[in-house]
Amino acid sequence: AYDFAANHKNSPFQGKVNFPTGVFINNEFSAGSTGKTIDLFNPSTAQKLTEISEGTAEDVDRAVKAAQDAAENRWGQNVHGTERGRLLIRLAELVEEHADELAALESLDNGKPYKFARGFDVPEAAANFRYFGGWADKVHGRTIDVGGDKLAYTRLENFDVVGQVIPWNFPILMAAWKLAPALAAGCSVVLKPSEITPLTALRLCSLVKEAGFPAGAVNVVVGYGQTVGAAIIDHPDVEKVAFTGSTAVGKLVMKAAANNVKAVTLELGGKSPAVVFDDANIQHAIQATAFGIWFNSAQCCCAGSRIFVEETVYDEFVKGFTAHTNTLKVGDPFDEDTFFGPVVSQTQHDRVSGFIESGKKDAKVVECGEASNLGGYFIRPNIFLEAPAECNIQRNEIFGPAVTITKFAKGADIVKLANDTEYGLAASVFSENINKAHKTAHRIKAGTVWINQHNILTKSVPFGGFKQSGLGRELGSEVLSNYLQPKSVFTQFTQ
Ligand code: NAD
Repeated sequence: AYDFAANHKNSPFQGKVNFPTGVFINNEFSAGSTGKTIDLFNPSTAQKLTEISEGTAEDVDRAVKAAQDAAENRWGQNVHGTERGRLLIRLAELVEEHADELAALESLDNGKPYKFARGFDVPEAAANFRYFGGWADKVHGRTIDVGGDKLAYTRLENFDVVGQVIPWNFPILMAAWKLAPALAAGCSVVLKPSEITPLTALRLCSLVKEAGFPAGAVNVVVGYGQTVGAAIIDHPDVEKVAFTGSTAVGKLVMKAAANNVKAVTLELGGKSPAVVFDDANIQHAIQATAFGIWFNSAQCCCAGSRIFVEETVYDEFVKGFTAHTNTLKVGDPFDEDTFFGPVVSQTQHDRVSGFIESGKKDAKVVECGEASNLGGYFIRPNIFLEAPAECNIQRNEIFGPAVTITKFAKGADIVKLANDTEYGLAASVFSENINKAHKTAHRIKAGTVWINQHNILTKSVPFGGFKQSGLGRELGSEVLSNYLQPKSVFTQFTQ
């Protein structure tokens, strides 16, 4: 077991975590078909943390067969929504009972501060299981008056087997976002977590079994995208795929799904604008936009990475934003006062550093926080000013601690600038004028527009992308339709 006392003397968590391993099929863990393993690294030390079994296309096939068998015999239409809801709510309770351990595992695997994993990721994962548990017996078709001696009604039938592929930035929460509505709808699932951060999804599998879900309802195969991910997307018996990750891979997923005309939903990247008008509460806007970009070391798909500020308050905003950012500590994720943990991997560290170097050529930079030499994949926050609209850091998703702050002229049509991106995941507007705030929100092309806040997500509010940020919606009642197919039953009375 990992020794918290020795490695993180200030850690509020000093309990035990056991590292899970294996692929989870039919409620049992086993080694992947080749017996190979994948090394996992602790992002805050860059040291090897543990290793897990590497899944393969063969394991995916085994998982799909288990899921199909569950759909036919033990899950899906065999189990009423009331019972599916009870199981999901039991799972929510188990996640809550194990919250400290799950949060510690998440921090070790992903590098995010323990206080955020414990205060947000894990409880929000539990909240998703509970919320969709509530929906499980409230989803039904309708009767349609077609006149005469006829009767028409619809049934909402679950897909038997769905494939889900998720990224590394919110590992347990993304697993919950995907599993909860699919299980509520009655689908059997084959899920692939990110090969970089699979530990909490695997730990969740033991809780799925303990909650009493029948064998084969939930199957988790860890492995690389090009092998396990592609095998899930391509498998002819996977009827629907739900993917969260980069836009580049999302396009591949959509093409591959087309081969079998599979239903596909995509949650992809973003380059979300935050618009600060001069009639905003500026101190509040500073705090909220800083949270909007810096939360999770800016590894959020909806991060407010392009901040636009009206010229009249620009200097005040930049000064306050910089001062506030400098108060946010970069350091050990297990220290109570840490805000910025490391980024997730060496690859991300190199990628984000490349963007920061390119930004320094194109714009004025304010480097915040301490130049950290902490041993892991730490990156201090960088604020870029006067970055031209067409430069690399203004156009591309960085997914790390860098932000641009751009001045706009008083009365300029800021919506045009905010919409000048191929993405459309999220945006925020800061103003005390409700007319201006709502009118601007309606004109911005994004799946979520926050007013006077940024990066606030919860289970009951739909979330997803316009434009190249995705297809379909997660969360809320909207997500359920991703996992259900309406069937019309149309009858002629003969007597
Ligand atoms: P990624 O696209 O590289 O990987 C995402 C997942 O897809 C991983 O599990 C990976 O193994 C798998 N994958 C990779 N290649 C694949 C292939 N050819 N076929 C099938 N699966 C494949 O993304 P990432 O680096 O893990 O995550 C960061 C990206 O995810 C960012 O662009 C971010 O914006 C996006 N993201 C979006 C949301 C959202 O809800 N919109 C949420 C989180 C992250």
